[in-house]
Amino acid sequence: MGPITPTLTGRCGGEVRFLVKPSSSKAPLLAVAALMGACMVQPPAARVQAAEGIVRGDDAAESARVSLLLDRLAPRVQALVPGADLPEDLEVWVQESPRLYALPGMGVADAEGLYSAHHSRILLSRAADDLERTLAHELAHAALGAEWARLPGTVEEGLCDLVSELLCPEGATRLRAGRLCSAALACGGLALELRLQSGDDGRQWIARVTLAGEDQGDDPQRAVFAVEAGLSSTALTTGTKRGFYGLAYLLVSRAAERVGLEGLHALCEDASAAGLERVPAARLLEAAELEDSREAWRSAAAEALGADELRALVVMYPHFVVDALDGWLHDQSLEAGWPEGVTLQVALPGGAAADLSGDASLLEQLRARRAEAQEPAR
Ligand SMILES: [Zn+2]
Repeated sequence: MGPITPTLTGRCGGEVRFLVKPSSSKAPLLAVAALMGACMVQPPAARVQAAEGIVRGDDAAESARVSLLLDRLAPRVQALVPGADLPEDLEVWVQESPRLYALPGMGVADAEGLYSAHHSRILLSRAADDLERTLAHELAHAALGAEWARLPGTVEEGLCDLVSELLCPEGATRLRAGRLCSAALACGGLALELRLQSGDDGRQWIARVTLAGEDQGDDPQRAVFAVEAGLSSTALTTGTKRGFYGLAYLLVSRAAERVGLEGLHALCEDASAAGLERVPAARLLEAAELEDSREAWRSAAAEALGADELRALVVMYPHFVVDALDGWLHDQSLEAGWPEGVTLQVALPGGAAADLSGDASLLEQLRARRAEAQEPAR
């Protein structure tokens, strides 16, 4: 089972950065730059000048829609994030899939949005799960002032996710559920309980399920400070990237609860004043009140999941619930709807629980599963 995350956004920069790397010989570098220039994707046709920047989409309606989002979000990102400053020449392009270059293989297939600081350009996937939230995430990248660059590894991704969560409350539960689940999966898995009780005889079944993700090594909670999972030049599987995004979100959201974004910004300023390239991991762990152990991070991720997040998790990944229900209710008719008196809960052992009794979507999937099983084999 793969990790479950609604949005995987990335910031672009790897490809761009290598073009401006100092080199002893200028000529080959310029040749590469010229070639890349020729291979830049063409801007989308419909251009709208918004108050906060230029938006380019496929048609006027799309550009107008996104320019409204831009003008709504940009001032709020700047008000929320200490030291934020959006570039004056900011552009937002809406594309099929976000890419800077037309060269094959240079798109980022699993990204819903990218930000290229070199071009002051946000690239959004038209099909993004939540376009507004993706734009908020990329605006946060674009707005982060110089000190924020002292955040190590993938931590900036957690900050941008948190900003998008705070500015887009509609998608917040889904984001939290996905990120916290991914964090738990990166640290060895998420243990859940499904509890079913029948109405007539009070019989109860409990299934203990552990959602498992990709193996992210013994110390993913250390790797998150070293790996730049958000850079498009960093080669990681989608599942592993999600794991690091989840861990970064867990760290930043805990730190922000305790010391605020101001406190996080102060850590960056301290590092800058001390001549450090990066904020030491120990300072961030302290701010988040997290220990440096995989188990501590796994527990912290699970504990942060509440009833709403558990419900969102089941919506994102219903199969483990449908599998269990299919077994439990095999002798019950579903013709008239959810079996009378049957209650269903998904819970964290010793933690939050969400009532799923009578859930229409689960019932529909259960019926579809049965119909499939009754089809003659071909
Ligand atoms: Zn990002």
